[in-house]
Amino acid sequence: MSTTKTFGEARSAVEGGASVTAATEAALAAAHQNKHLNAFLELFDQSALEQAARVDARVKAGEAGPLAGVVLSIKDNICYKDHKVSASSRILEGFTSLYSATVVERLLAADAVILGRTNCDEFAMGSSNENSAFGKVLNPVNTNMVPGGSSGGAAASVAAGIVHAALGSDTGGSIRQPASFTGTVGLKPTYGRVSRHGLIAFASSFDQIGPFTRTVDDAATLYSVMAGRDQRDSTTSRKPVEPITLAHPGKLRIGYFREGLERPGMDPEVVAHLQAHIDRLKADGHVVEPVEVPLLDHQVPTYYILATAEASSNLARFDGIHYGHRSKAAKGVEETYRLSRTEGFGPEVKRRILLGTFVLSAGYYDAYYAQAQRVRRILRDRTLEACSQFDILLGPTCPTTAFAHGAVSDPVAMYLQDIFTVQANLAGNPAISLPTGMHSNGLPFGLQLMAAPFAEAKLLAAAKHLF
Ligand code: GLN
Repeated sequence: MSTTKTFGEARSAVEGGASVTAATEAALAAAHQNKHLNAFLELFDQSALEQAARVDARVKAGEAGPLAGVVLSIKDNICYKDHKVSASSRILEGFTSLYSATVVERLLAADAVILGRTNCDEFAMGSSNENSAFGKVLNPVNTNMVPGGSSGGAAASVAAGIVHAALGSDTGGSIRQPASFTGTVGLKPTYGRVSRHGLIAFASSFDQIGPFTRTVDDAATLYSVMAGRDQRDSTTSRKPVEPITLAHPGKLRIGYFREGLERPGMDPEVVAHLQAHIDRLKADGHVVEPVEVPLLDHQVPTYYILATAEASSNLARFDGIHYGHRSKAAKGVEETYRLSRTEGFGPEVKRRILLGTFVLSAGYYDAYYAQAQRVRRILRDRTLEACSQFDILLGPTCPTTAFAHGAVSDPVAMYLQDIFTVQANLAGNPAISLPTGMHSNGLPFGLQLMAAPFAEAKLLAAAKHLF
């Protein structure tokens, strides 16, 4: 992307007579220059340039939509009609979307250009983008490091300056953690605020689509275009979408997570950074008080029991018959299922299917799945209680900065990456990671803000003015 970085700049360029086609060509060139990052699995050259020409015509006619001039990427688990989608898995080899996700329709209707689909962990399962069937993604800030996951390609596409924004999905932190690792803004909206119609499901009671951007203003713009009821996703709320004015929120009550300061394993610079923000906010006249993260040590196990249970059920549809890869060696129906799944799924996806099937199995259902549901309810109630006492909850997005490729090989250690992010998915409230910190190791890191469900207006206003 040659000239513009934010939506505001892109819009002014278009208003000043710059062509959207030229912006799209520049973005395609930037994607080629950054091929080594492996952020994109495919560039949609043809449809991107066709859309750009349509937008140019609308600009000329004085009918430009709010995203005219904006170039975006979509994570490879979001469907775009007549385009390939694979969830970075071999099992969807050759599969082409039959329809577009509602978010894609809304973005195109607002005159955005979609440049291509980005690499991710297979079926969005992971925290480093090392679980993709199509290779790892490099962090543009330091290519020895992971970009985070599962939306690693999405984060890299924004951090490298290829696109203005990216769509990712966040089931347990997959937007916020890569945003923290790449120095971008990552928003997970409230569960039910943005349609998941056309999102390849991982864990349906957690999944949300959200944006990666460079600024809070741009996150607010994309959120406003995407949010709201969708007939085709019955989990979307009928609550009207509050307009996002980004007006200064005034003096707020801010609860900070003490565990973010005291927990072993926290990087001392991340701790010091959070403390400095707490002191500054107090000095600015906000009420800043500690708040307990409910059942912190139970959050990751609860998430991994419930998310794997849901995944084992959602992924049953990939059977070698309905979609994508079918084993050539199989004789008969049962072998087709077995061999297609054995050949098509990678190791992490298999691990999750096995775990999920186990926690749902007759002898263990009450001990694991039902128990985890009860813990989730307590956790949700406590989180909502904290949200009612404070306007904003503040903490680190992650315990550390990005780690080196291959540095975390133990699955449990990788799962613990999600310690601060899964709460918002378990409780359903919105959360944003803001690029506020730069470590002495040269890597960026984020702070996470949370608010009550459907309080995106307050969350985004606080994110813009207080940090
Ligand atoms: N890292 C978490 C997991 O592997 C979250 C993934 C996500 O949000 N999609 O499940």
